[in-house]
Amino acid sequence: MRAALWKWVALTALAAPGLFVASVHASTVENMRLWAAPDHSRLVFDLSAPVSASVFTLDNPSRLVIDLADTQLDSDPASIDLDGSAISEVRTGVREGDDLRVVLELDRAVEPRHFALSPNDQYGDRLVVDLEYPGESAVEDPIDPIESMIREQEIAAERARTVAVAEGLDPVETAPTVTEAQPHPKRDIIIAVDAGHGGEDPGATGPSGTREKDVVLEMADRLARMINQTAGFRAVMIRDGDYYIGLRQRTLIAREQKADFFVSIHADAFNSPRPHGSSVFALSQSGATSETAKWLATSENRSDLIGGVDGSLSLDDKDQVLRGVLLDLTMTATLNDSLTIGGAVLDRIGRVNDLHKPRVEQAGFVVLKSPDIPSLLVETGFISNPDEERRLRDGGYQERMMSAVFGGVRAHFEQNPPPASLLAWNRDHGRETDSNEYRIQPGDTLSGIASQHGVSLGQLRQVNELSGDVIRVGQVLRIPST
Ligand SMILES: [Zn+2]
Repeated sequence: MRAALWKWVALTALAAPGLFVASVHASTVENMRLWAAPDHSRLVFDLSAPVSASVFTLDNPSRLVIDLADTQLDSDPASIDLDGSAISEVRTGVREGDDLRVVLELDRAVEPRHFALSPNDQYGDRLVVDLEYPGESAVEDPIDPIESMIREQEIAAERARTVAVAEGLDPVETAPTVTEAQPHPKRDIIIAVDAGHGGEDPGATGPSGTREKDVVLEMADRLARMINQTAGFRAVMIRDGDYYIGLRQRTLIAREQKADFFVSIHADAFNSPRPHGSSVFALSQSGATSETAKWLATSENRSDLIGGVDGSLSLDDKDQVLRGVLLDLTMTATLNDSLTIGGAVLDRIGRVNDLHKPRVEQAGFVVLKSPDIPSLLVETGFISNPDEERRLRDGGYQERMMSAVFGGVRAHFEQNPPPASLLAWNRDHGRETDSNEYRIQPGDTLSGIASQHGVSLGQLRQVNELSGDVIRVGQVLRIPST
């Protein structure tokens, strides 16, 4: 049965789609767009009218079949860029006279999901087919289990301290300490870097056609690179390609990756060219309050946030009032951190660009709603302002803007390092966090690093006690001061 069906598909795939354009169909596929993310591919059909679709997989070889009832094709599947997706080939054919069959040849196991979207101001009717890769992480370089465990212990200790404070106990006496006898974990501080929009959501578009989703991804890349080059910090890119991630999903990924801080990079827009300047947003008080209520109402969240990440700190026996108090304390502390870091970031951004508003603004943006991860949204400039649109595309401006963002974040964590972090260890051992440190990235050479920092190769070898040129990725070098 399967073999027979396959033969039929192969035959009909040869038929030119143009042959049937003359007949009257309920809908037409006007375009097909593909987005490749680390954990899924998304195929979007732009349609002239809604269609009824049936989607199923076939094995040996692995294929996904998408049948669109009473639909014709007016788009060339060969023009789709399949790079980085699970799809190795797209074929189409006509079935039962007027149905369209699309067959995707797959290079891995997928779990398909599909849904229809009705028209919005950007697109008409769409059919979205998501191919999810079972067991794949949403990020390129996920946190490793040991790192994750260290973070969980640290978070549990912090929760215990908060509970003790809420109950009026002495936190020093009651809180379980991160075991002193063990070697200090010297963990990295994890910064979640979120490039706004992506995929079928381009964000705002400038007068010269610059798309927000592109420039914010470029800036996010620069920021992540800066973070990864700095000893004691590590970046997690929430999105690192041209694909869309839901807003809630972005905060979930940050939580999964045990981020210490979350920053979302955007570019502002207005319907006139005049407004300009950069802005920094933290969550609004009302946003925080309503989110707290929502978390309290959802038992899943409750066990995740209040129950203690490893189950060692259960609040099940504590009353509802205490839960509310605890969550309020957490949310308030998080918001305070966001505002402090936001101030430090805004200060530095003010040296790079005009500020749209002279203070950290507050709004109910969904990506800022993590109850326990300080979060900021940075509007790097107005893409609708021709001058700032030009600057947003400029590599030098992007670099200065991201360096301002990281400068503020870094200053905060140097003053308030999480207990298990390298920065805390440095502080406790009277060692200034050396700003003249560089962590080796893939592709680096010793001579390249030397010239990048304006020092000689000999000096660089000497202070790092290196005899040859062999370096490894992740190794931290001291950069001699010039
Ligand atoms: Zn935006």
